[in-house]
Amino acid sequence: MARLQEHEGKALFKIAGMPIPQGDVARTPEEARKIAEKIGKPVVIKIQIWAGGRGKAGGVKFADTPAEAEKITASLLGATIKGLLVEKVLVEEKLAIEKEYYAGIIVNAQADARCPVVMFSTEGGMDIESVPADKIALMNVDVIRGFKIYDALNLANELKVPSQYINQVARLIFGLYETFKNYGARLIEINPVVVTKEGKVLAGDCRISIDDSAVIRHPELGIEVAREASTPPTELDRIAWWVEEKDLRGTCYFAEMNNEIQDREVFGTIGYHGMGGGGAMLGVDGLNKQGMKVANFADTSGNPPASKVYRAAKMVFSQPGIDGYMLGGFMAANQEQWHHAHGVVKALREELPKRPGFPVVLLLAGNKEKESLEILREGTKDLNARIRIYGGDRVYDTEGLAAEMKEMVLEYKKEKNG
Ligand code: GDP
Ligand code: MN
Repeated sequence: MARLQEHEGKALFKIAGMPIPQGDVARTPEEARKIAEKIGKPVVIKIQIWAGGRGKAGGVKFADTPAEAEKITASLLGATIKGLLVEKVLVEEKLAIEKEYYAGIIVNAQADARCPVVMFSTEGGMDIESVPADKIALMNVDVIRGFKIYDALNLANELKVPSQYINQVARLIFGLYETFKNYGARLIEINPVVVTKEGKVLAGDCRISIDDSAVIRHPELGIEVAREASTPPTELDRIAWWVEEKDLRGTCYFAEMNNEIQDREVFGTIGYHGMGGGGAMLGVDGLNKQGMKVANFADTSGNPPASKVYRAAKMVFSQPGIDGYMLGGFMAANQEQWHHAHGVVKALREELPKRPGFPVVLLLAGNKEKESLEILREGTKDLNARIRIYGGDRVYDTEGLAAEMKEMVLEYKKEKNG
């Protein structure tokens, strides 16, 4: 799922005619001051990152004057909050909150439902997971019939929303459904729906995730990589997406892991090339337990052609500072593994001559395993590198393989540093 930031989501609300607080995005403290001047009253300043719970994390602040808005923005921009770098803030009129509600829609994937479910609660401002069930009104929507304004009224009425707000609340829920439908969302949420002391109802926050498969229909959203992530895509993440878009056979997933490890000693950094999502992650755990950091998580699975595997391997190798390469097929795949073998061999034959003695662990298991291991052995036997090749009998041995990798990395680094 591709996630939008609050201000991007609110722009869609505006298109749907839903009331949102007056405001704009600032990338510098001066911009924040100008926006606050234009608003002409106290403002709220909210960091724009791909994460919720910003309030509790110190990412939602209030300012009474434009000068204060400028100062607060200066302290927020460039800060790391919830592990994410703050590059922009949303400056909005501060609302005088009378009551906070919740409205959200997700896809109900239960076998007897398989439809959008619209949720409304009078307990807004907190995680919907912690709201008691009797305080949440729900409706499974038959997408052919659609969602009507009176459905929204019924939901609000079920929880006894006071009559002076009920029409505004229903219009907001109705707009939410329209936005959900029009943009192919998987999840959409307003938390809180704000009822102000003046009796106005507005969307106080916004969270939207677009279905990966719907992204192509909405170039106007400017989503670069149709995948859920918490940080903006890096150059390699973008290249991987380009590979994926051009050839949908199998998966070419790539995510750089740039976080620093500070709490323990790191013996080396491994370029990690997994096969088969979840199983492959066990290999990362194994490496971490041996005190090794992974530079990235890559995944080629679901029967990709050799060309895709080759490209993924090349991306892994293109990361500066790696001390080893691991092909982590920690599962028995039912597709023919020789496509992987061919793609990896081509990449290794190009990359290893530049790195004498480089540590490489290759694990492949599954259909045509014998032939695939043969391709790996034959294709790499003349290379000057530390190469270990394993099959299905080691598929559960994540820690053992990680330990071998560590041993080779230590030797390699010693050799390299004289
Ligand atoms: P989140 O923590 O990432 O979900 O960020 P929100 O945008 O939902 O803000 C968190 C909380 O800050 C809200 O639930 C409100 O209680 C408070 N807040 C946000 N905007 C305003 C505002 O304009 N006025 C007031 N009084 N409180 C606000
Ligand atoms: Mn919120």
